[in-house]
Amino acid sequence: MSRAEPFMTSEQIVKQARKLSFKFRVEHGDAFHMDEVHPESTDGFKSDDKDRAEDMLQEGHSVLSDLQGRLYAAKRWGVSGQFYGPDSAGKDGVITHSLAGVNPQGIDVNSFVVPTEEELEHDFMWRSLRVMPRRGRIGISNRGYYEEVFVVRVHPEILRKQKLPPSLVTDHIWDERFRDIRTVEKYLHRNGYVMLKFLLVISKEEQRKRLLARVDNPDRNWKFSGADLRERAFFKEYLKVYEDAVRNTASPWAPWYVVPANHKWFARLVVQSAFIAELSALNLEYPKLDPEKERELAAARLELSKKR
Ligand code: AMP
Ligand code: MG
Repeated sequence: MSRAEPFMTSEQIVKQARKLSFKFRVEHGDAFHMDEVHPESTDGFKSDDKDRAEDMLQEGHSVLSDLQGRLYAAKRWGVSGQFYGPDSAGKDGVITHSLAGVNPQGIDVNSFVVPTEEELEHDFMWRSLRVMPRRGRIGISNRGYYEEVFVVRVHPEILRKQKLPPSLVTDHIWDERFRDIRTVEKYLHRNGYVMLKFLLVISKEEQRKRLLARVDNPDRNWKFSGADLRERAFFKEYLKVYEDAVRNTASPWAPWYVVPANHKWFARLVVQSAFIAELSALNLEYPKLDPEKERELAAARLELSKKR
């Protein structure tokens, strides 16, 4: 990868973002294999390129901010970004740092934890779909309906506690959920949604270090949960269900970005690049003014240019 020049044009930044993010974009699941994902990977960057990646992230902020402004003004598309990965994969940090340049008024962020009673009394996509962003906005989900084919699949006892009619809980349930997800994502796409699904992949060893830091560092203690350690015992099982979900639900209109995330700075850059790539592909223009609005602006200019 070429060195980031200090004054790259927006076009160059977009081009670079497309090139980087497309390497991790999965839109046809058949060819996807989890064991081909290397959590340690930083693509062409060297491990001492962290500063350069951070400069690129800074430059990306202004481009993404401009794209978000156009998205908002055009009010045609809604953008939904979902984030998944094992505990300590860095979802919070990625969300914060990749989108830091965007006007907070244009973004909605929702986190999904263990479902409430009310949520369990609805279909499995209900709580996620009711917070889909309005046209012109970016909606971020920290976890979402894919947990229903991740954690629930790793722990079938959770499924048993859900309030589904028993006759509907069969061996086909995961295939049915995949089919339902594909159908709903197609429907959303046809309604003007752009969907980005991120899976942050870390190695088990990197997770060990991060969880240990949560235990050792008083400022990070609050992030530690006993559940993290219990889930860690299922690390391999999670990789399997992640793989199966990506293989079954990747599509050109709702692609997965499977992001190597052992290096936080790299994951953040890939995620920001994906947003830049997907938004720029919409070719968003600021709305054209109609003649009446033009006349209104001309009159306002005249009025305001009088000094009084
Ligand atoms: P965290 O993201 O670390 O705050 O933890 C949220 C927890 O909620 C994780 O342990 C998830 O596995 C769990 N969770 C999220 N969605 C679901 C779901 N649909 N069913 C059961 N557990 C869930
Ligand atoms: Mg956690």
